[in-house]
Amino acid sequence: LIAEAGLYTASDQIIILSPKNVDSVLLNSTAAVLVEFYATWCGHCVAFSPTWKNLARDIKEWKPAVDLAAIDCADESNRKVCTNFGITGFPSLKFFPAYSSSESRGLELRGFPRDVRGLRHYIIDKLEMHNEAWPPACPPLETASEAEIDNFFQINNVKLLALVFESKDSYVGREVTLDLLQYENIAVRRVLDTETSLVSRFGVTDFPSCYLYNSSRHISRLKVLKEARTFYSYALQSLPGVVRTGKPQIPITDLLKNSTLQEWRKFNKTRVYMSDLESALHYSLRVELSGHTSISGNDLTALKKYINVLAKYFPGRPSVKSALKTVDSWLQQQKGTEIKYSDFRDVLDNTAQTSDAVLPEGVQWVGCQGSQSHYRGYPCAFWTLFHVLTVQAKEMGFPDPQEVLQAMRGYVSSFFGCRPCATHFEAMAQESMDHVTSLSAAVLWLWSRHNRVNNRLAGELSEDPHFPKIQWPSPELCPSCHGLKKTGEHHWDQKEVLTFLRHYFSSAHILMDYLQ
Ligand code: FAD
Repeated sequence: LIAEAGLYTASDQIIILSPKNVDSVLLNSTAAVLVEFYATWCGHCVAFSPTWKNLARDIKEWKPAVDLAAIDCADESNRKVCTNFGITGFPSLKFFPAYSSSESRGLELRGFPRDVRGLRHYIIDKLEMHNEAWPPACPPLETASEAEIDNFFQINNVKLLALVFESKDSYVGREVTLDLLQYENIAVRRVLDTETSLVSRFGVTDFPSCYLYNSSRHISRLKVLKEARTFYSYALQSLPGVVRTGKPQIPITDLLKNSTLQEWRKFNKTRVYMSDLESALHYSLRVELSGHTSISGNDLTALKKYINVLAKYFPGRPSVKSALKTVDSWLQQQKGTEIKYSDFRDVLDNTAQTSDAVLPEGVQWVGCQGSQSHYRGYPCAFWTLFHVLTVQAKEMGFPDPQEVLQAMRGYVSSFFGCRPCATHFEAMAQESMDHVTSLSAAVLWLWSRHNRVNNRLAGELSEDPHFPKIQWPSPELCPSCHGLKKTGEHHWDQKEVLTFLRHYFSSAHILMDYLQ
């Protein structure tokens, strides 16, 4: 499916440079750009590429101020560009400040750190070197004084000021400032522990810690699970009234009044609903597949595996399970190289003739309802279905750890209507699905790749403003899933995540409300 050369693809959120776009990306840009010059054959570059991709995901929110790019100097068509920039060894990093002129050859970063945290700090240091030509989207990164804070609301048109109190050498305040760069109604500033007057006025005792200050001069401490960047940024981005730029937060009641949606079904945002799972089955089997009049070759294999996995692991009502089993045995009996969709459909719609087996018709989204009809629905329920299936396979202990993931891969590749989604998913599968060697690893693989997709899609047009794409589960939903390394970096406690997923997606925990 993917035929891109080089170490990066478009879905890595790294700008891929070529002679065609190099000038427009690097010169006279409103954002600073950090470029990796690499060669595909260079082992160090291959070893460094996961760090570069992780960095891109980690600082995705900083894009309007600073972006990441990469160019493959082993590709002959790029050779001239690399030579012009004086590149002789790989990987090389060059920083291009905002508004770089055509004479600029970039600032070479010698002996750069090889970890995400170190690189992030490096980027902040370089951003701070901008003097007159400060990137317009980049908020001030310097420390705030008492006078600035006292006059803040007279000068700035925001409702809320978050103050990160910290020591001089801490980068947390600047990182959080950049993480909130694309959010409205809030500003973030860092205050040093040496600002004794402010420290005593706010009653600050911990460094770092974060306080909220509003135009009525009310002060409150930001409640977080851990005093660290990721927790501050997530908590601030989730505050009421804080919205992503260009995504107005219309109260859900107003939205629904004005929309043509059917009746809104009240639901618990932290639970899985059987109605979504059954709706996903209906949509997939009766709508999505119906676009394929005849199914053969790899597509037929993919369909057989998908239905087989559903028949084995779908934790549904007995009638639905029987319907899936009936369809599965029919399909397994088809020994030819091709089937007609209409025959498949006949079997699916007539399962009730032999028993009470039936897959209800129609969709009724509950936990997957969108605030408007073009949001959520099927893709939400499709993800949920496969999280449930990986967990169910783990509970039932069948021997093949790849079975459910490969069934999902095959279905997505052959039938999932969103073709760019299929391309991205296949790229992730090619990268690492084969490394999954246990049922627990399968559950975690799907969770972590879903988070990658969430990271990529956060802020996109397709994001429902009422259901922002976050790194899931949030600290509120699963406190024990979130930990801190000694360096202060966030890390997922995978053991806890697995325990959480096994409970969250377990058959016993699925709500049966609103079923037809
Ligand atoms: P979804 O991301 O659909 O998640 C559904 C529910 O799952 C959430 O409400 C939450 O309760 C839970 N959840 C969230 N994250 C996780 C996690 N990490 N692990 C377990 N559970 C979680 N859209 C695009 O625009 N571009 C794409 O490239 C793209 N690729 C896709 C690939 C696949 C295989 C699928 C199934 C969908 C893809 N989509 C893509 C659609 C997109 O991922 C969302 O499904 C869609 O935007 C609806 O989002 P949502 O807010 O309902 O949450």
